[in-house]
Amino acid sequence: MAYDTNNIFAKILRREIPCDRVYEDDFALAFSDIKPQAPVHVLVIPKGEYVSSDDFFSTAPDAEVAGFCRAVGNVAGKLGIAENGYRLLANHGADANQEVPHFHVHIFAGKNLGPMLAV
Ligand code: AMP
Repeated sequence: MAYDTNNIFAKILRREIPCDRVYEDDFALAFSDIKPQAPVHVLVIPKGEYVSSDDFFSTAPDAEVAGFCRAVGNVAGKLGIAENGYRLLANHGADANQEVPHFHVHIFAGKNLGPMLAV
């Protein structure tokens, strides 16, 4: 799938629409999810144009992958959620119901998050 430069996260990166910014560095931007599913629900997105985790992990340069992973850790540190715990989630493709075609990692925290998947 080709990258759609009009997806909503691309617009957030270009500052065409606002977000509740939590963290930013050279590799990543983190902001609160507009429809939070936990007391803490933050999205971390790479600054580069990647459709999903599958695209990012297979095509991004090593420096971008490393920088992005460090950024996720930095966000968790900034949010102060490491001690009690948090969950990372990345949806790729139709079976995962990915909605926004710009790679993003969800960070959930702030309560016991229960079992990993509803069956
Ligand atoms: P996914 O299903 O993994 O693609 O998740 C996309 C997420 O983006 C959902 O949790 C949405 O609530 C969230 N989202 C969509 N638009 C915005 C927005 N403008 N600002 C913040 N989060 C958004």
